[in-house]
Amino acid sequence: MHKDSEHGKATRIIHNRRHKDGFGSPYSPIYNTTTYRFPDTAALQEVIAGRAPGNLYTRWGSNPSIQELEQGLASLEETEDALAFASGMAAISATLFAHGRNGIVCVGDLYGGTQELLTKHMEPLGLPVTFLLRHEPDQLASALSKPGMLVYCESPANPTLSILDIQQLAQQAHAKGALLAVDNTFASPVNQRPLNLGADLSLHSASKFLGGHSDITAGAVMASAERIKPIAQWRKNLGQILAPETAALLSRSLRTLPLRVKQHNENALAVARAMEGHPAIKRVLYPGLPDFPGHNLAKQQMDGFGGVLTIEIKGDREQAVKVADNLQVFLLATSLGGVESLVSQPCATSHYGISQEERERRGISDSMLRLSVGLEDAEDLIADLQQALGTL
Ligand code: PLP
Repeated sequence: MHKDSEHGKATRIIHNRRHKDGFGSPYSPIYNTTTYRFPDTAALQEVIAGRAPGNLYTRWGSNPSIQELEQGLASLEETEDALAFASGMAAISATLFAHGRNGIVCVGDLYGGTQELLTKHMEPLGLPVTFLLRHEPDQLASALSKPGMLVYCESPANPTLSILDIQQLAQQAHAKGALLAVDNTFASPVNQRPLNLGADLSLHSASKFLGGHSDITAGAVMASAERIKPIAQWRKNLGQILAPETAALLSRSLRTLPLRVKQHNENALAVARAMEGHPAIKRVLYPGLPDFPGHNLAKQQMDGFGGVLTIEIKGDREQAVKVADNLQVFLLATSLGGVESLVSQPCATSHYGISQEERERRGISDSMLRLSVGLEDAEDLIADLQQALGTL
C-alpha cells in the first residue's frame, strides 16, 4: 500500500508530492534538463557507482518531474513503484522484454498494436508467444509449460470490452510460477486496480484516460519495486523515457482523473442504455449493461464500467462507415479517454494491423464502431448517434 493510503485517491493525487519552495507555488517547476552538474569527479563517481543518491541523466529516469509523476501513478494503483514512458507501446514492449523472455501467454482480446508487436517483432526474435481466446483460460495451465513465463491480458479488452477474471488468472499464473500483467488502459486506476486483485503488473497507455485530453502521448507501468527494477533497465537502454514537460502535463491531468472518470462512466452508461434496442443496432457491448456477458464479473472487480463502448450496426462495413461519417459531435478519430467523444471503426484503425481472418476468429466484425464517450452533455451525444443512425 502507498504510504498515503489513509487518504482517498482524489486527495492523494491532488496532493501528490506537494512542492515547497521560497515562492509558495504549490506545484513543482518543470525540471527541463537532460543532465546534472556535479561539484567534482569524485561526487559523480559516487552516484554512477550507486554509492550515493543523485541524478545523473534524464534518459535513466532520474528527473524530478518524471519521478513526481511516477509517485502519483504508483499511488493511483495503490502500489510501491511506477515507471513513466514515452507511449503505451513503449511501456508494453519494455515490460514484455523484461518479464516475457521465458514465454508469453496472451489471454483474450488485445489492442491491435500489442498483437502486432508480439507477432511481427517478438515472435521472430525467438520469444515464444501463445494466444488463447477469451473463452479458453482453462488452457492456461498447459500453455504455461515452464516456470518464469508471463501471462498478458486486457480487461476490459479492446474493442470487444470483454471481461476476464483477474483474480482467477493471477491464481492460475502463480500456480505455474508465472506473472500476470494486465493492460488497465480501458478501466483506468479509478475503475480498477489489477494489482489489488492479484496481478503483478498493471500497464497503461497514458495517452488515453490518464492524459485525458488527447494531447499527451505517454505510457505507464505500475508494480512492486522488485518487478519494476528490470523494466527500468530496458527503458533506459531502449531510450523510452518521456520528456519532462510531458511528465508535468500528465501530473496536471492526473489531478482531475477521479472526477473525469466518474463522468465518463455516467455518460457511457447513458449512451449504452439509449443505444440498446435501437432498430439499427445489432449489439451494444458495454460492461455496465446487465445483459453483457461479463457484467457480473465487472461489478465484482471494477468500481465503474468505463467510458468506452462498442456498437455493432445491423449491416455491413459500408453502413458502419456511413454512421461514423454522419456523426457531428463525435469526432472521427482513433484513440479514447479524452474529454471529447470519438468514434472509430476497429477494423480500419486499432485492429487494422491484424488479419481479417484473425479479427473474425476474435469476433471483431467490420460493422463494429468503437465509441469513446467524452465529457459533453450525454443528451447531445445520444441525439448525435440517433441522427447518424437515422441516415441508414
Ligand atoms: N493499450 C491499449 C488498450 C490501447 O488502446 C492502446 C492504444 O490505443 C495502447 C495500449 C497503446 O498506447 P499508445 O498509443 O500510447 O502507445
